[in-house]
Amino acid sequence: MQRKDVDKKYKWHVEDVFASDEAWEAAFAALEKKADFAKFKGTLNTAEGLLAFYRADEAFSLEAMRVYLYAFLKHDEDVRVTRYNSYLAKIMSLFTRVGAETAFVTPELTALPDETLDRFIADPRLKDYDYALSRIKAHKRYTLSEKEERLLAQAAEPLSAAGDVFEMLDNAELNLPEIEYEGKRTQLSHGLYSLIMSGKDRAKRAEAFKLYYSAYGKIINTLATTYYGNVKKDIFYSTARGYSSCLERALFEEDVDQAVYERLVRAVGKGTPILHRYMQVRKEALGYDEMHMYDIYPSLVDDAELRLPFEKAFELVLQGLAPLGEEYLSLLKRGKDEGWIDVMESEGKRSGAYSIGIYGVHPFVLLNYQETTHDVFTIAHEMGHSLHSYYSNGNQPQVKADYTIFVAEVASTVNEVLLLKYLLKTSTDSNLKKYLLNYFMDMIRTTLFRQTQFAEFEQKAHAAAEGGEPLNKDNLSAIYLDLNKRYYGDAVTHDEEIATEWARIPHFYRSFYVYKYATGITSAICIANRILREGESAVADYKKFLKGGNSTDPVSLLKIAGADLTTDVPFEDAMREFELALDEFVKL
Ligand SMILES: [Zn+2]
Repeated sequence: MQRKDVDKKYKWHVEDVFASDEAWEAAFAALEKKADFAKFKGTLNTAEGLLAFYRADEAFSLEAMRVYLYAFLKHDEDVRVTRYNSYLAKIMSLFTRVGAETAFVTPELTALPDETLDRFIADPRLKDYDYALSRIKAHKRYTLSEKEERLLAQAAEPLSAAGDVFEMLDNAELNLPEIEYEGKRTQLSHGLYSLIMSGKDRAKRAEAFKLYYSAYGKIINTLATTYYGNVKKDIFYSTARGYSSCLERALFEEDVDQAVYERLVRAVGKGTPILHRYMQVRKEALGYDEMHMYDIYPSLVDDAELRLPFEKAFELVLQGLAPLGEEYLSLLKRGKDEGWIDVMESEGKRSGAYSIGIYGVHPFVLLNYQETTHDVFTIAHEMGHSLHSYYSNGNQPQVKADYTIFVAEVASTVNEVLLLKYLLKTSTDSNLKKYLLNYFMDMIRTTLFRQTQFAEFEQKAHAAAEGGEPLNKDNLSAIYLDLNKRYYGDAVTHDEEIATEWARIPHFYRSFYVYKYATGITSAICIANRILREGESAVADYKKFLKGGNSTDPVSLLKIAGADLTTDVPFEDAMREFELALDEFVKL
């Protein structure tokens, strides 16, 4: 379909951001003039000076984000249009310029004495910035002299080489072999690999698995060296700044206690027997004597597609999310009726789905709705992000509105869990029920277990290197294989290839990142359960979380909604849900 032929009611209202390209260009020109921050240099040591800077910075970013949003949305409507590519490039380069111009801010603030920062934090005029300033103050003990900081800043680019090399190998020069697919010989790609892995053709899966890993295997020493380089970079930063470990540094940056990480690893480790049982059930359901790692991806249930037109799907989402109360539902409806969502696929449109929420404008959602069951969940998921943005933007000052990655997947997953439970309760179609249970179990396997397995790998690899043990393909693969056996158990045949899976995970070049997926789904399951159990009071607490933006540390925010990651409760909740789903699946 061409975009011009899509019914207007299925298109988002970009005109809510700017009425026209001309209006955008005028706004951009004005913004370029406004971007003048050099004059604030040396003025941040008084409350008045700091306030003046913050006000100018906020006014700039309010407008700049709007300008960015318009370019971003127009670009995604049809990525082939060069005009919007250039709009995007223009605003990005302005951001780069302003970033360089305001680089003095953090060092200047960090250099202030504690007493001055305390005075700022207590100053009612600077109330909106109290959390940000308290983080600046906390960072002081890990901040070095001006000269050393300058050196560290200069080292950032060369130190990112390991990650750059991996990206180049993985995306361009890995040389994945050819495979016969749908009657044609084509070169294997990451996309085709996952398509084959979730497909029904077992021989093809086995073939792709061997071919894929053989490509990594040919350069495994290079990949181990690259990954070790990345770990050494982490060690360099953490020792230079005086952290006790790389993990401590990564969590400090997010204001999360290391105990949360350790609790996650411990609690999920305790839950692995349920995953082992799920693997056993999967093996029996598939009727295999031996189940390999390439057999764990396909859905166990065929054709449970709801095939609902968008309006009906949206109705179903509203029914599923009814426990969140009238206000939440009316906002969802508003989103649908007032042009937040771009529903249909059309030529040139960006694929996939996302939600984007910018301060001062309503959220926007991109879908490529195809009437599958999964697509109905995508509506609930993306609208979860949108309402989180809507509530935070509407209830926090600009600087505290943007929620962080740590909590970003919670609202979306709460919605998925609520919808899932509603469908399981109301559906009489046992095939659909089996499909949904399988969907849920795989969500827990991939988001909770797999990401925790990754988290544990990163922790062990860093700890080994920090202890003076050089990393190489042998010890990295030994750590990974051991974890894989521990997580998946005896029902799975652990082919030698899987020991090298660490070598192909791009997220490992962003150390200690993936655990947030695991704490996110854990929190979401816990919150959804509480909402179903306690009703109104739980919803009221949940809304406080949704309205919380980044007003304080993420663990405290989640605690307001009832997910207390400083206890075992949310983790036990998630494991119980997994087990209940498995029991129900077996019964059906
Ligand atoms: Zn999401």
